[in-house]
Amino acid sequence: MLNKDDSIMVVLSSPSGAGKTTISKKIQQKHQNFKISVSHTTRKPRPNEVDGVDYFFLTKEQFENKIRNNEFYEHAEIFGNYYGTSKKTVLNLLKNKNDILFDIDWQGSKQLSQHKELKLTKIFILPPNKEELRNRLIQRNQDKQDVVSERLESYENDLKHQKDYDFIVINDNLETCFKKVEEIINSEKERNQNN
Ligand code: ADP
Ligand code: 5GP
Repeated sequence: MLNKDDSIMVVLSSPSGAGKTTISKKIQQKHQNFKISVSHTTRKPRPNEVDGVDYFFLTKEQFENKIRNNEFYEHAEIFGNYYGTSKKTVLNLLKNKNDILFDIDWQGSKQLSQHKELKLTKIFILPPNKEELRNRLIQRNQDKQDVVSERLESYENDLKHQKDYDFIVINDNLETCFKKVEEIINSEKERNQNN
């Protein structure tokens, strides 16, 4: 296993807009040892996003070069853009004995699972219903209307993949959801310490 000692690797996936980025950031803030694995993407930055913090923003050519050089543990095309997790990012976090959070989609989760040297805890976050998901996507107000529609359209397909996860948590009330995710993380850490 690459994650030795008691460090854990948590995958958080969800239909877009369900709240996984919000939850990941809350975990990173409260639990100092947790770091979010910063992904690479060809998506354009949103107004509040910072290169190197929220994502490493690349051109399509730069991203395709990295694919060719086998620099990713996983990568996928989502809503017309590339997203990927670089090996370098993960290995650096492991070297520092960090716990790692992956905010990635179901395709990425599937690919990461094939790397048997990574011991993953996979959590799927669900919105209470589709209408609330629509509200959140609109409220976030950082994507154009057609982008919101595209993300909403993928909802049913995203739901099909929840069966591949170890835990499913509904994000209705944010604090309640956050507590549940924390409980899962704490118990997984304890399990690792005892193994
Ligand atoms: P994702 O990363 O899954 O696409 P975000 O974390 O960006 O989703 O959340 C989408 C929007 O929903 C954001 O505006 C966020 O503040 C809001 N949000 C997240 N959780 C809740 C919640 N429990 N109740 C209401 N709004 C929420
Ligand atoms: P967004 O554009 O809203 O930031 O992200 C869109 C989707 O891409 C989300 O489901 C998010 O989890 C996913 N995503 C972000 N980074 C990665 C990554 O490195 N790999 C994969 N497979 N998905 C990612």
